[in-house]
Amino acid sequence: MSDPAPDLLELRGVSKHFGSFRAVDDVGFTVRAGARHAVIGPNGAGKSTLFGLVSGTLAATTGSLLLDGRDVTRLPVHRRVGLGIAATFQHSSLFLPETVLENVLLAALRRAGTRAAATARARTLLERVGLPTRHDVPAAELSHGERRQLEVAVALATEPRLLLLDEPAAGMSPAETERLTRLIAALPDDVTVLLVEHDLDMVFELADTVTVMHLGNHLTTGTPDEVRASAEVQSAYLGTTEVTS
Ligand code: ADP
Ligand code: MG
Repeated sequence: MSDPAPDLLELRGVSKHFGSFRAVDDVGFTVRAGARHAVIGPNGAGKSTLFGLVSGTLAATTGSLLLDGRDVTRLPVHRRVGLGIAATFQHSSLFLPETVLENVLLAALRRAGTRAAATARARTLLERVGLPTRHDVPAAELSHGERRQLEVAVALATEPRLLLLDEPAAGMSPAETERLTRLIAALPDDVTVLLVEHDLDMVFELADTVTVMHLGNHLTTGTPDEVRASAEVQSAYLGTTEVTS
């Protein structure tokens, strides 16, 4: 590999304590600009907590987070969104009574100068995520898979440089997962993706870098091949799961 991309995100000794419990314990790794970076690990490993620390919904107990070398550790969510961090959450944050278009429009208005520009952008994004015919449907009426697609459109509408996706394929059908995988793969390089996903097929298809967490700790960060080959990962996480090809 020549000419490595600069780091977009750097985590330095980041921890989150809930009382005496360390949900995230001294985690450090970097995310290259343009990366498709997956975070994997068993339930309770601290993946969603880590994402909360990056998006700003949770405050770090110790450590620091740098975006483009700038310390964002203490910035509130809206300031981080302004700097280009967008997240979809494991538990949906859609406005369910509002229409599909309105959900994307509300996010697009943060960036676009006019309502017309925001509407055009919202329509383009709904096309891209595969919801071009669902504009006028209340979000509450979407299928589970469609909601996840909508969440991705809402996140993209803020024009993120760093897109955090927490288990976007959870509860999706194989066809929906396949569509989402293609959507993420087709995102432009100026959108860096940090992805938590249980579906290891999706992880190993998409990711160029994989971080493994276990019980709040950072176990390893490497290429998919390195992670698959790691004995430590095999015993701590992949365990009996057979990972092939
Ligand atoms: P993952 O996303 O990897 O499954 P989480 O980050 O959701 O893991 O949770 C990591 C650990 O932290 C779990 O044991 C969970 O019960 C605990 N935890 C998460 N949020 C809280 C909270 N608000 N208060 C106390 N414990 C929490
Ligand atoms: Mg989680």
